[in-house]
Amino acid sequence: MARIFWVTCPKCNKRFYCHSEELLHKKIDLLCPYCGIYFPQEQSPKIQE
Ligand SMILES: [Zn+2]
Repeated sequence: MARIFWVTCPKCNKRFYCHSEELLHKKIDLLCPYCGIYFPQEQSPKIQE
């Protein structure tokens, strides 16, 4: 089973999950599926592994 982590969007404050192997702690912008913005992981108000 893939490991995931939860991210809170800095714009709409909704939570969504991403796959850890692909994205966690990497310099890849995340895409919020709710409002459609891309943002760096450092901008998320909360990341829960
Ligand atoms: Zn959002």
